[in-house]
Amino acid sequence: MNAVQEFKLSGTAIPKDAVHMLGEICEHFVEHAEVQRTQDAALLKSKIGTASIRVQDRRLLIELACPSEEALQMSRTSIAEHLFYFAGDDPLELSWSETAALAVLPNIHEATVVSAENVTPHMRRVKFASADVTPFIGGDMHVRLLIPPKGRAPVWPGLREDGRIAWPEGEDELVVRVYTIRAVDIESRELWIDFLQHPAPGVETPGADFARDAQPGERVALLGPGGGNLPSARSILLAGDESALPAIARIAAEVPPGTRMQAIIEVEDAAEEQPLASAGSLDIRWLHRRSYPSGAKGVLAEETKKAIAAIDDETFVWFACEKEDVRTIRALLKSRRHDRKNMYVAWYWERDPA
Ligand SMILES: Cc1cc2nc3c(=O)[nH]c(=O)nc-3n(C[C@H](O)[C@H](O)[C@H](O)COP(=O)(O)OP(=O)(O)OC[C@H]3O[C@@H](n4cnc5c(N)ncnc54)[C@H](O)[C@@H]3O)c2cc1C
Repeated sequence: MNAVQEFKLSGTAIPKDAVHMLGEICEHFVEHAEVQRTQDAALLKSKIGTASIRVQDRRLLIELACPSEEALQMSRTSIAEHLFYFAGDDPLELSWSETAALAVLPNIHEATVVSAENVTPHMRRVKFASADVTPFIGGDMHVRLLIPPKGRAPVWPGLREDGRIAWPEGEDELVVRVYTIRAVDIESRELWIDFLQHPAPGVETPGADFARDAQPGERVALLGPGGGNLPSARSILLAGDESALPAIARIAAEVPPGTRMQAIIEVEDAAEEQPLASAGSLDIRWLHRRSYPSGAKGVLAEETKKAIAAIDDETFVWFACEKEDVRTIRALLKSRRHDRKNMYVAWYWERDPA
């Protein structure tokens, strides 16, 4: 990135095993940033700035440099959240040279439900109005949707001293689920999210239920956007299930003319197919789960494997669905040494083992 990195902050983390933690950070951030690793140090470069992390005396010394105060705050929160996530139940101390200059999360956007309607029998589109939709144009596609408890005035998250998000608790606890911004309507200042209605007998589905019951005027917040850029390549292989369909549709809609795309999309049946507009050329193959032989597993992954066998190294591979199929495709791409910069492989949901 070329922007001047004028906003700086240092931090010190004391994890149980600093070298192991550095490895975890590099392994994770390679999906989101350019990562340069040496024995005891790493440099992470992303759109929001750089993070230099080095091991010294069993500590991780962190230097952040960003082009704005907002970016610095987001960078600090991202590093803090990930460090504590990787630490799990192990002890971790994290402190920063200065406390946060911002008292609120810089990337939180309040939004109000405008309408909700079915696009197909199991895909429900909710349109939200937000004061400023410009942060959602281009770039990252995903958000954390924050849904307040019904009938209560929302309490939105703030920041902890160590940079992590301070989530409201008790009666103010929020439902938090990750979704894709399917489209941004700049003129009407609207954002669209398509929610799969996925019945799960015996378990609650708060994200899907929110969309099912959404009423105009209801308030939510969107945290982001983040994680999952629109891929930029002349040739793209897109594959996924219904949870990935909004992202596949958005990529198809936003690629420049001349982009060649092949898509393999798994849905329940023909009624769940959607027309996907694109300025590029798009060849779609719909897989209908309902027509699979009983007990069939991993069909989407198998079909994607065949498609990967026929592509060249320059083709961007975009794959998202349930965790198990994602593991298969990740392993295949690794064994083929497909360039990591030319792929996005992410699990969007996890099957309940029960
Ligand atoms: C980056 C990203 C982008 C995403 N974008 C979208 C999007 O645009 N639209 C969308 O609908 N989803 C999207 N998802 C998936 C969505 O976050 C999950 O499906 C989420 O679990 C839904 O929350 P819930 O409250 O409805 O169900 P949960 O409370 O999370 O789960 C309840 C039960 O439903 C099962 N379940 C969860 N998701 C599915 C599914 N997709 N199919 C079948 N069973 C499921 C779980 O195994 C569990 O048993 C995205 C996920 C990620 C990580």
